[in-house]
Amino acid sequence: PKRDDDSHYFTSYGSNDIHATMLNDKVRTSAYASFILGTPTVFNGAVVLDVGCGTGILSMFAARSGAKRVYAVDASDIVKRAEEIIKDNGHEDAITVIQGKVEDITLPDGVAEVDVIISEWMGYALLYESMLDSVLVARDRFLRPGGIIAPSQCRIMLTLCEGAEIYKDRVGMWDDVYGFDMSAMKEEVYGEAIVDIVKPESLVSDPVIIKDLYIPDVRLQQLNFHSSFTLVCTSTKRTKIRTFVLYFDTFFSPLGMPISPSTKVHVAHEGSPIVAEVWPLGGKFQPKRRASQGGSRTPGEERVTSFSTGPESVPTHWKQTIFLLHEPIRAHEGTVVTGTFSCRKSDENSRELDVEIRYSVKDDAVSAPGDLIIQMYK
Ligand code: SAH
Repeated sequence: PKRDDDSHYFTSYGSNDIHATMLNDKVRTSAYASFILGTPTVFNGAVVLDVGCGTGILSMFAARSGAKRVYAVDASDIVKRAEEIIKDNGHEDAITVIQGKVEDITLPDGVAEVDVIISEWMGYALLYESMLDSVLVARDRFLRPGGIIAPSQCRIMLTLCEGAEIYKDRVGMWDDVYGFDMSAMKEEVYGEAIVDIVKPESLVSDPVIIKDLYIPDVRLQQLNFHSSFTLVCTSTKRTKIRTFVLYFDTFFSPLGMPISPSTKVHVAHEGSPIVAEVWPLGGKFQPKRRASQGGSRTPGEERVTSFSTGPESVPTHWKQTIFLLHEPIRAHEGTVVTGTFSCRKSDENSRELDVEIRYSVKDDAVSAPGDLIIQMYK
């Protein structure tokens, strides 16, 4: 019999708390607001599909930005609230709420295609929850050729972090609990990725991109991936590295164009705007495709909205994902950590991930190359 990984998942989205957490995440919600309200060329007069509408927030942004028709789809009972909310805000003429999995529903009025898909599908470590799978199905079922998907691109980043504090909190604490040695509890700590906030001061390398997902082209098979990395320690003093830290950056391109790896994400910090637009390719951008559908768009002026969930940005509800190492890496400036990062859906639950990191350290006599196998739960 086919295992059901869905019931619990959609039930969890029926509660208020999870929606409050997402709506209160200003980096997240204002990035969508900025893109949808700031790009009427995409939304004005468009037919829009909101995959996983939740409370209906993105659908209402789209209606406010001039969408002709919005289909707000969600499999969770939260759609009952969404319907009410949309009515209370006078958007019931533009927004049609549909309860069901986007894989199963049909659009009413014989509508076969939409111009735009909006969705907030990102999970911990980006791919936890596997909701992107559903967005890809929606894209292939409903998006017209040349249509826009928001967000258009996500990058998974990996970096080195000293992690002294997280080590003390999660591992060291077991050494002395009211005078008892509970170190028997330690082993399990290493088997799970930790979702928590990392201080930017504890980072000791530049980040590298371990996965770059351009959503218009992504195929399902690419979501189980294996990627090699090289991280170089930037600490000016000798240090112990106890963790790899993973986070993701998200981009919204109004022309649906891919951005280059060198494009910097906008990092929000105290006193800076939460979202801002970045120029891809470090300058003006010449769209090659779809320029003919330009409308009032000016070629060469694509600006991309972006946000980061990294330690250097204002914390989001995704925090960062931390992988504790069994043995710390003794490092200094220039120490090189190379390895492979593998991520795939768990056999037990397709909404969970199994991550395996293999790495070795160069230019350091003390630490031996090591293997690390980590399972990630919520
Ligand atoms: N768009 C809202 C909610 C995002 S949370 C906001 O930005 O605040 C993701 C939502 O997608 C959840 O409510 C979940 O129930 C829904 N969802 C996930 N997979 C889905 C699928 N395959 N079909 C329909 N809804 C789905």
